[in-house]
Amino acid sequence: MAAFGTMAPSPDPAPLPVQSTVVEALPLAERLVLTPAPASYLREERFQRGDTLSGFLARLGIAELHAARLARVRALQQLRPGAQVSAELSAEGAPLALRFLVDRDRLVEVVADGDGYRAAEKPADFETRLAMESGVIRSSLFAAADAAGIPDSVAIQLADIFAGDIDFYRDLRKGDRFAVVYETHSLLGRTVRAGRVLAAEFTNQGKRYRAVLYGASYYTPEGNNLRRAFLRAPLEFSRVSSGFGRRVHPMFRTWRAHKGVDYAAPAGTRVRAVGDGVVEFAGESGGYGRMVVVRHHGSYSTVYAHLSRFASGVRRGARLAQNDSVGFVGQTGWATGPHLHYEFRVAGEARNPHSIAMPAGRPVPQPELQAFRDQAEPLAARLDLLANSSFALLE
Ligand SMILES: [Zn+2]
Repeated sequence: MAAFGTMAPSPDPAPLPVQSTVVEALPLAERLVLTPAPASYLREERFQRGDTLSGFLARLGIAELHAARLARVRALQQLRPGAQVSAELSAEGAPLALRFLVDRDRLVEVVADGDGYRAAEKPADFETRLAMESGVIRSSLFAAADAAGIPDSVAIQLADIFAGDIDFYRDLRKGDRFAVVYETHSLLGRTVRAGRVLAAEFTNQGKRYRAVLYGASYYTPEGNNLRRAFLRAPLEFSRVSSGFGRRVHPMFRTWRAHKGVDYAAPAGTRVRAVGDGVVEFAGESGGYGRMVVVRHHGSYSTVYAHLSRFASGVRRGARLAQNDSVGFVGQTGWATGPHLHYEFRVAGEARNPHSIAMPAGRPVPQPELQAFRDQAEPLAARLDLLANSSFALLE
């Protein structure tokens, strides 16, 4: 279920456009009259690794005679693998214009001009729209995002936004659901990439969390900050690691009373500091292998073990901010496979990190509350709309 509305800020959320397809049979003679041969047509191709310029121009449907001349235009040297090229061609296969993006946001335009071509480069004029999607978790967040047509960058933002409340490695359950409102940037009628998530809802194990973007931070619709002093999971969320099996078998059941939480993840997955702190230990520690201990404010500390290597700069006394790299998943020490052994300690005692109430960041400042509400309410209304319509459809 996808719907688009314009970005213009308005006090009321724009209604969803009603999608309908009308198919009408036309008598053959009338159809011939109604569809004259076009003077030009558009063709799109992606420049691929291994493509030669002449081969690529031929694939675009450009006649050889024209292709030879076009290939000499210097601006075309900027074509890189992955670039989507839009070509406007005459009915005879003569190129009228070629357009493609370089460096994310500059548009190169090569236009026929008499016997030659004229090249120009300008900032791409993206059109920003809002996309609204929702999904239900069956196996993983990425699988659900794929099923809903949500790009990876949006799924990752979703996991980041709720990272203070939900451990996306261990807490997700079949039947969890989400709705998300995000920007899409399009150029020449084609969506080039997704932008920021403006609002999101995640229902995890029956508990609903909501977020709206205000300034550079995410808040609940009531204005409470979603940022927590500690992230729920010490692993960076990615497509590769999220699909990894969850079960870890300890090498020796009797090794010791297991006080930590084990995260199975591919070797090399980035391990991040769950909160701001100072490195208290970074070195080898017997069965724990390569291990880092980070001391946080108060009496909290966190332990990351079996690392393959430390992140650069991680040594005793180094300061780390929340989400900074600690090291990378490995299987040093006593480990049967690559995994992270993670401990959350209070006054030196390992505790279940999920049972600890995480202090929150600052709420929206009082003087800004009205401005915040003006922005948050239409977004929350869109989430309501998604919750009421698409979830019913997905059921
Ligand atoms: Zn462990």
